[in-house]
This record gives sequence, C-alpha cells and structure tokens, in this order.
Amino acid sequence: MLNILIMGPAGAGKGTMSELIEKHYDVTHISTGDMFREEVKNNTKLGQKANEYMQAGLLVPDELVIDMVVDRVSRKDCDNGYLLDGFPRSLIQANVFDTKVIGTSRDISLVINLTVDQELLISRIENRRVCKNCGATYNMLTLPPKQEGICDECGGPLYQRKDDNRETLEKRLESYRIETEPVLEHYRKLNLVHDVNASQSIEKVWFDIERVIDNYLYEQKHKEDK
Ligand code: AMP
Repeated sequence: MLNILIMGPAGAGKGTMSELIEKHYDVTHISTGDMFREEVKNNTKLGQKANEYMQAGLLVPDELVIDMVVDRVSRKDCDNGYLLDGFPRSLIQANVFDTKVIGTSRDISLVINLTVDQELLISRIENRRVCKNCGATYNMLTLPPKQEGICDECGGPLYQRKDDNRETLEKRLESYRIETEPVLEHYRKLNLVHDVNASQSIEKVWFDIERVIDNYLYEQKHKEDK
C-alpha cells in the first residue's frame, strides 16, 4: 500500500504532480479542493457553506472536512493506496486523521512537500487555467494548451478559478503559513516528510518525486523480504 500526502502552497504544482503520481503508481487521487468545487457546482448544503470560505481564501471549518476525507479514503478504490492533495491543512485535521488511520491499511506512508518561492507562486496562480470538464491544469506562459481556451486532453473549455487572483491568493498563502506549516512540522517530527524543490521544471520535479516514492517502495520491499 502506498498512502501519500502531497503538500505545498497554492501554485506549488500539487495538481500537476498528483496527475503524474496517479498515472504512474496505482493510487487514487483525492483533492479536497476538487471535492468542495464539486459540491459547490451541485449546489449542495455543504457546497453552499464551503463556498463562502473558499471565495474569501479561508479554510473551510475542520468539522466539514475531516469526516468527508476519512469516509473517502476508507472506500475500496483506496485499497492500493491514496494520494491526498490539500489535506490535512490544519493541526486539528492532522491529529484527528492520524488517530483514525494509524495502524490501519490507511496509515500514512510518506509526505511530499513541494517548496517554491513566493513570486513564482503568484505568477503560476495568475496564469493558471483549469479544464471545466476533466480538471487538467495549464499555465498560459509555461504550459499553454495547443488551442486557446480548449483542453488538449478532452476538448473541454478552460476557465480561471474564481479564487485564482492576487488578493485571494495572498490570503491563501497567509492561511498556509499560519495553519498548514505546523502540519508539516508535525509530520517532520514523525520522519515522514520529503522536501522537493518545485521551482524546477515539471520534468525535474517529477524526477525527484519518483526517486522519493521508489526509494520508499524499495525499503518496504526490503523489510517484507527480511
Ligand atoms: P485547493 O484547490 O486545494 O487550493 O482548495 C481550494 C479551497 O478549498 C481552499 O482555499 C479552502 O477554502 C478549501 N479547502 C480545500 N481543502 C481544504 C482543507 N483540507 N481544509 C479546509 N479547507 C480546504
């Protein structure tokens, strides 16, 4: 089993790297941001509540997030492993999640931490476009679609997320510093964190991530063989 948390501020490339990890290793990608956007789209009660926070660049309250994620990772499609993107974002989320999964097949294997400097994050977020249909992400400067406004993968329309503007981004980065960085420190103490320099090209970041995951799998296999 391979249970991964991918962490990093907005614009670090979690979505892009998650797509590659999901394709390469047989794990289920779970993005809490995508789950909330789906709830908003379907105008559910949860979606209506979450939307207020999302538009303000604030974290959705812990009690609305934790049960949703615990329930999601317990499903059968996560038997091989999961890749959690955007969770946990606060110490409370991390502590409650840990106690629910520890000693089970959903226990965390490793944490990949994508690090990027701030100026690059702002540029990535302002130039990010997302496919409405399949969620693939593009960058108008570094990774534009072949045809403007159209997804290369599925032909769906591209749009800019409402919260992808400088003002909301600054709030999101602040909430990352205040609420999410302590989560990283928590997992660092447990020796689970692997830092990856995500300012590099997509190919180089992917190369480093593969090395981290392959090393982990190799060590696991070695332990089993003993
Ligand atoms: P993301 O797509 O990961 O950038 O998430 C978009 C927004 O969804 C965030 O700015 C939060 O408002 C909300 N969100 C996503 N994941 C979480 C989480 N684990 N805890 C609280 N809020 C979240």
